[in-house]
Amino acid sequence: MKTRTDLIVWGGTALTMDDNLRIVEHAVIKIGQGKIQEISSKKGFRPPAGVKNLDASNCLLLPGLVNGHTHTGMSLLRGIADDLPLYEWLNHHIFPLERALGKKDFVALGTELACLEMLRSGTTTFNDMYYFEEAAAEAAHRMGIRAICGQTHLEISGVEKSSEVFKKFDLFFKTVSKFPRVQGALAPHSIYGLSESLWKEMIAYAERNDLLIHTHLAETPKECHEIIKQRGVSPVKWFESIGLWDQKVICAHAVELSDDDIKLLGRNQVGIVFNPESNLKLGNGICPVVELRAQGAVLSFGTDSTASNNNLDLLQEVDTGTKIQAFKYGVGKLSAVESVKMLTIEGARALHLEKLIGSLEMGKEADIIAVSLKGPHCFPLYDPYSHLVYSATGADVLHTLVGGKILMKNRKMMLCDENDILNRAQKWGLKIARLNAKFQKA
Ligand SMILES: [Zn+2]
Repeated sequence: MKTRTDLIVWGGTALTMDDNLRIVEHAVIKIGQGKIQEISSKKGFRPPAGVKNLDASNCLLLPGLVNGHTHTGMSLLRGIADDLPLYEWLNHHIFPLERALGKKDFVALGTELACLEMLRSGTTTFNDMYYFEEAAAEAAHRMGIRAICGQTHLEISGVEKSSEVFKKFDLFFKTVSKFPRVQGALAPHSIYGLSESLWKEMIAYAERNDLLIHTHLAETPKECHEIIKQRGVSPVKWFESIGLWDQKVICAHAVELSDDDIKLLGRNQVGIVFNPESNLKLGNGICPVVELRAQGAVLSFGTDSTASNNNLDLLQEVDTGTKIQAFKYGVGKLSAVESVKMLTIEGARALHLEKLIGSLEMGKEADIIAVSLKGPHCFPLYDPYSHLVYSATGADVLHTLVGGKILMKNRKMMLCDENDILNRAQKWGLKIARLNAKFQKA
């Protein structure tokens, strides 16, 4: 039985990002029950009466962007401490503030603010890692966005028995299962954040429950040198020894890798998230994206948190990222079209979501964005991929849909009260600034 068409998105040029990179001019996308029913090309199309429709004339239509690594709950810390190296930034500013503020309402509002920013700049799926992640999952659900919410774990003093840790995880996954577009994940913080025995238990738990593991990997040269000194092998090789690469796993950063590490990650088709702006801002280095992809790893773009970026605009991220790969490897080694793949279908693959999202194809979820080509920076138009990567920014996104639902139309948010979120964030900001000033005096 044919399902009813609930919505028609029409009039733009669709970059489907399917296997053939099909481009459909004068696109007409029919959507039913939240999924794409059909994509066709009809010049002079006018929507039939009685069917809801969305005009995307003068726009590029493409699958919603995938943010492979972020910490949305930190969004209220945007700009509180800048221009500092990673360890000073974390230990003297971010960690003390998180200890004082890190509660559910802080995470919930930070996540709402982040979802607002992401939906306004074309992100429809994000892969998150933070504390109180059930509050982030609920906020994502409320905002209508798609998310993988990774409850993080950082073993500080070993006070908690592992049975207690996993009881909490059981509860977390039960809570998150209530939200249809949100998937739970395990997010052990890093190689140095957990003991070997707990890492092994995490892997066994993930395997039993078929869960994605999301972690930080080789973010700084300092981290890698210390691990090699303590354990005799690189983080990548150590993780191999405990079986991490046999799991569904996505790793953020991967800045400091040897040739052997790159081959190992490639051979295991590990999902790697390239966070160029955060890595540059914290002075950590450049992920070897071109070599990793050549060896078989699956690459996604990520923003990391607003505290180290300081925005969640993936169209700015892809601009920076593509250019620094040119700087590292030579011009054209990562082309604009390859970068757009990383923002969409390859990003989805890195999260093991490629059957659901990442391209505009029949039967996939209708996560669609329309990027306006009306700005002077988009004239003239020769190559749409070039404009997306090098000219457009998130501010050019006109419409955003997730699961066939219009969440932003003509830049107006349809599901949330934008001003209310911004006002509450501003009030929290005053409180956080006072607290930060107190910590700096102490
Ligand atoms: Zn991170």
